[in-house]
Order: sequence, then C-alpha cells, then structure tokens
Amino acid sequence: MNLKQLFITFSAVLLFAGCNNNQGTQTQGWDESKYKPDYSTPPFIIDDHVHYRATDEFEKDFIEVYTRHNAMACLLVNIQHLERGIAFAKAHPDRVIPYAAVDIDSPTILEDVQKVYDMGFRGLGELFARGNWDYCDPKYDPLWALAEKLDMPVAPHTGNLSNGLMHHLRPAPLGDICARHPKLKIHAAHFGNPWYEEAAEAARRNANLYFDLSGSSLIKKEKDPQYWAQWLWWTDAIGKAHMPANAVPAWEKIVFGSDEGPDQFEENIRRFNKVLDANNVPDSIRAKCYGLTMARLLGIKVPSGK
Ligand SMILES: [Zn+2]
Repeated sequence: MNLKQLFITFSAVLLFAGCNNNQGTQTQGWDESKYKPDYSTPPFIIDDHVHYRATDEFEKDFIEVYTRHNAMACLLVNIQHLERGIAFAKAHPDRVIPYAAVDIDSPTILEDVQKVYDMGFRGLGELFARGNWDYCDPKYDPLWALAEKLDMPVAPHTGNLSNGLMHHLRPAPLGDICARHPKLKIHAAHFGNPWYEEAAEAARRNANLYFDLSGSSLIKKEKDPQYWAQWLWWTDAIGKAHMPANAVPAWEKIVFGSDEGPDQFEENIRRFNKVLDANNVPDSIRAKCYGLTMARLLGIKVPSGK
C-alpha cells in the first residue's frame, strides 16, 4: 500500500466511524437533561407487589399513601402473619388485595393453599423456589394445578435474590408452567433480572404470563430508560409470521409494582413513568400496566369513571 492508498483507506475508516457515531446518537434518542420527572398516573392503580409488615405503623402508612393515590395493592403476607394480614385486608377491601406468601416446598403445600383460600386470600406470593428445583419441576405441578383450579393468581420471584441465589429463579420455567396450565395467571416479579430476554419471550408466547419491573432493574437502567424496548420488541410484528395468534402489544405484558414501602410509592411511579415516557407507551396501555390488567386477572371491578 502506497501513501495515497493508505490515506484513502484511513479516510474511509474515519468516515465509516463517523457514520456509526451519528447513527448511534440518532437511534439512542434519549436526552436525560431534557426530561422532567413525571408523577402522573391513570385514575386506577393496582401495585402488584407490596410486602406486608405486621405493624401498626406500616398499616397506617400504607392506608394513608394508597388512599391518597386512590390505589390498591397486592399485599404479600408472610405465613406467620396470615391472621393479622387477612383482618387488615377485610377492614380495607378497597385498598388491599391479600396474597399469602406460602412456602412452595412445604410438605403440606396443597393443604396450605386451600387453607389460605378459605381464609379469603386472593392470590399466592411472593413465591420462591428455594431449593434445587426450578419452578417447572414436576414436584410443583399439583400446586400450580390447584392455584389454577381455585383461580388464584400467583406472583413468583424471578432473577437474582437478596441472599445471592439466582440459578433456580430464572423466568423461563414460568413459560413451561403457563403452557401446561393455560388458565393459571402468573404475574411474576422483577422481569427476570437479569434474564430480561428470557422473561419477555416467555411472556410473548404465553397469554397468561406478566411481569413487574420492581427491584433493582429500573435503578440499574435509570440513565437508559429506552433499554427495555429491545426486549419488548414485538408490538409492530403482531399479525406477522412467528407471532402467537393471541399476541398483545409488548408493553401490555408489564404491570406496575413497587416492592418497596409506602414512603417510596411516588418514587416508584417516577421510575416507572420514565420508562413508559421514554418508550412512548400510549395512555391506553399505561392504564393496563398501572391497574386494568391486574384488575382483569383478579376479577376486580374497576370503579366507574376510571
Ligand atoms: Zn422478589
């Protein structure tokens, strides 16, 4: 290569790199400095993920905050607090949707589920595969069959866990459960963090599978709110080849969940709205994410005018 050829090659490389840079800026299209926090919500909200604490202070704060926002929540009650939790739920039926956090490895799991159902619990969660079994292990099948028969939605944890476990909490097994139990309703926690693609594809293929985006995911991607579009990709492909006939727009598979105390409710709205805003999710779908989807899964009548 002579000097002239070298110059031409070098210029071509620079030009190519420049094009790529421009493309990168254009496709990214997110200007953090221009975005203002958005706390607006649709009129009807169900937070699908709040852990109940059996204290007067928690109950007071919960009712105060959720009443102020005219919101309901799936309140996940540990088994040692079932009596107090269901009493609280029955005292506030317009705010609390009681879920029992049964131990799926309990030797009496089927009796446990029947018992919490008879007490008035509407769903099961948060559930954890704690041992060496994935959620789709055949040993759990009678549990999923019973929840399906009782029409109790289930809220399993997915992805990494605070104690460091993660391998048996992948979201893919939920796809298998949904396929085996098409009437079972699953709204799983944390969108599979970090297995987002797996979670999204399982949800795309299964009409009865939804995810919340609670946990560290929106904190991790605070500066990159368009990140989620690569996993929730298929809205424009509905009706095309390789799409399920009953596919719904991708963002309809996401539900609002906080997984934090009532004092963080507004911060969770801000985080969630940032993602919805950055991905141009239309109002009709936001209303589903924020409450209408959970209302449908739970058979909750949405108050008129909402
Ligand atoms: Zn969780």
